Amino acid sequence: MLDRLSEARRFDGSLPALQDPQAFLARAIERRTSQERSVIAETKRFRERLIGDGAFRTALRSGTLSDADDFERYRPLWDQELGHTVWNSAALAAWPEVQLWKNWHEDLVCYRDLMTAYPSRYGTHPGFTAWRRRQEARTASELGPMHLAITHPVVAYELARGCSVGCWFCGISADSFSGTAAYADHGPLWREILSVMMDRLGPAARTGFCYWGTDPADTPDYDHFLADHQRITGWVSQTTTATPLRNIDLTRRILALSEREGPVLNRFSVLTTRQLHQIFEAFTPLELLLVELVPQMRGSLMPKARAGRALARGTSQPERDLGLSSVATTIACVSGFLINVPEQRLRLIAPTRASAECPEGYRTFVDKTFSDAADFAKLLDEVLALHMPEDLKGEALIGFRPDLRVTMDESGLRLENQASVHTVGKVPFLAELVDLLVGTPRTTQDVIEALVVSGANFFDVHRLLIELYECALIEPRDCWAAGSMALRA
Ligand code: SF4
Repeated sequence: MLDRLSEARRFDGSLPALQDPQAFLARAIERRTSQERSVIAETKRFRERLIGDGAFRTALRSGTLSDADDFERYRPLWDQELGHTVWNSAALAAWPEVQLWKNWHEDLVCYRDLMTAYPSRYGTHPGFTAWRRRQEARTASELGPMHLAITHPVVAYELARGCSVGCWFCGISADSFSGTAAYADHGPLWREILSVMMDRLGPAARTGFCYWGTDPADTPDYDHFLADHQRITGWVSQTTTATPLRNIDLTRRILALSEREGPVLNRFSVLTTRQLHQIFEAFTPLELLLVELVPQMRGSLMPKARAGRALARGTSQPERDLGLSSVATTIACVSGFLINVPEQRLRLIAPTRASAECPEGYRTFVDKTFSDAADFAKLLDEVLALHMPEDLKGEALIGFRPDLRVTMDESGLRLENQASVHTVGKVPFLAELVDLLVGTPRTTQDVIEALVVSGANFFDVHRLLIELYECALIEPRDCWAAGSMALRA
């Protein structure tokens, strides 16, 4: 009946049998000799310089670099024409460093996909798992191919109020920094929160991480919180920081914990070319093998997502000067909970295309505060019970997602937005169903009843509605104003 509704479910049955991402990454490291790891780390560093240092890139490509011979072994990485020709061919074997790098990179992509698949496979709350699948399907439909970069962790924890870095392009428009959690004060509540999350969501809660509109360097006790996360969930969570050199001892403690108890891929956001070279001086290539350097500096090859402050700046300045992406429209990745520990605040969020209604690139379905650990558990239970039905409720007012343009032709129904086209093959009751879903709001029960009275088969109607719902093409109408429906306690 449905033609292209399930294509977003890319993970079913397509990943290696080894499902634990951290075990997969550990094996990817162990499989390589120490010499191979060194070569990969050196190649990674070359590539980071190529992407993040425009002057180096220009000099290399124009042949004016005095030590250009040193980089011949990486030629497929910087000579675009050669790279295109040999990248997926046996000829790449003539560049063993690049071949090693490519194989390593493919393992990292697999690790990312295992991380994405993990909560659905190991989550223990069926309603939450079903809700997340719908959010993933909606995100895929709204964002198109860019959605593949989103790993949909189930929770992000903020350990501070706001962020002191103040990036002009911040895709989630982080507030200014106004305080942080001290481990001595917040440790007990933190550990209770982690225990409750594991209890209610199961191993899926391992995919949580400890920053959002915050930077880890603003929390001097960050590594203590991180160690608790490892002790209680079993995983060290990923860390991203834009200020890895501000408190280099803290950064080294984070990396040491990741190496000892992980492994995990961490990230440094690099804001200037100068900072890039300072990082190169402070850390050897091998020390950063499992740290992705994200080039955010002016002139880097990585465009900025059109969300948050970058989106707002784009309205007052030519976008090409800002290096805004034409396709990336959110940096939000969590489909689940955003928990601010010092504010004792819980939100339910999921990524979306940044827009006037959701400028930060995520929907907020719930926004409430809690008074202590017991109140947190109660609130979490309420949200899971109220917002996470496994099935489409009979009393829900339903309609097509508002970003979808709805048209009918001789072949059936077509639902499209800027990123995707979904089609539904013709069935006898389709035209009437579409009329019911775009007209005056009706409940699921009313829609089914109206169609059955007109002669449609109950089971056919029910099956199509469930498929449309699971693919997030129809939604309860209270999701439509997800930005404005968030309730503060
Ligand atoms: S991008 Fe990250 S580091 Fe920069 S202001 Fe936003 S939260 Fe802070």
